[in-house]
Amino acid sequence: MRNAVAWALASIIGLAACDTSTPRAPAVDAAVDTATDPPIAVDAPVAAVPDPRECDTPDACAWIEAYQRDVIGRLAGREEVSPGVMLAHRASVAERTAARVYLRDALAARGLDVRLQAYATGQNVVASLPPTSGTAAAARIVVGAHYDSVPAGPGAADDGTGVAIVLATARYLADLPRRDHPVDFVLFDQEEIGLVGSAAYVAALRDEGAAVDSVHCFDMVSFDGDGDGAVELWSPSAGLEDLYRLHGTPRGIPVHAVTFASSDHQSFLRRGFVAVGVGEEFVGGDHTPHYHRATDTFDRIDFAYLGRITRLALDVLADRVVD
Ligand SMILES: [Zn+2]
Repeated sequence: MRNAVAWALASIIGLAACDTSTPRAPAVDAAVDTATDPPIAVDAPVAAVPDPRECDTPDACAWIEAYQRDVIGRLAGREEVSPGVMLAHRASVAERTAARVYLRDALAARGLDVRLQAYATGQNVVASLPPTSGTAAAARIVVGAHYDSVPAGPGAADDGTGVAIVLATARYLADLPRRDHPVDFVLFDQEEIGLVGSAAYVAALRDEGAAVDSVHCFDMVSFDGDGDGAVELWSPSAGLEDLYRLHGTPRGIPVHAVTFASSDHQSFLRRGFVAVGVGEEFVGGDHTPHYHRATDTFDRIDFAYLGRITRLALDVLADRVVD
């Protein structure tokens, strides 16, 4: 349409400047042009066509297993985490640094606003996703896992699996057409030496005075020895057990609430936030025999189980992020 307007102008100018032999009525030509051409703004932007969503439901997200295999493979030293760098564990300063740079870039690649939150002895990776509905002051949802490991082994289950859930939820929620709450995806440093990174994030959250809807921390989702597909909720705040059960039941996932404090959710509970830890049946006794050992490797992860619990997490968070 811009071309049609330009042609009309050129024809008027051309007739006025060059066509001296035959009298014409350029004003009439122009009037005809504008009468037959619908009036439009010449500088109207071309309507943006949104990218198609990767998947409309968690069950349709065929990318989950390959994505989680890639994430855990890099974190647990099966593949390079960056060119020339293979991680034996994620306990030393150098290896935690390599892991966090990879995770920062992986979250940024999904279009999230990512920063490193430094505290005295380490750094958390914090990726923020704004709401789509313009209610920036709405209560925040926090989704977390720790990226450090013990020095004994590569930490594929502990907590490569939790990190892989956080990255999958970030990828899915960033693609949702509607979000009424902001979401922070946080990868905590130094969980293994005393929930240090999560305590630093919580301290900043309190300083900021941010309203928080709920906190969901994932730690070890790698093993289902008895094949019942169950998940454990660690010390869930009121309401969260019902939320997970609501979505677990149609998926055939038994949800067991137990009391357990030895993971990052405890940093939030301690400060009065609504929080839950989510993991395999660590308290119930159906958990990986490779916990905190050199054998906590990529090849021992039950990716089908991880995928089912990831989809439960997607159901829960997609429900929670929309009012
Ligand atoms: Zn852990």
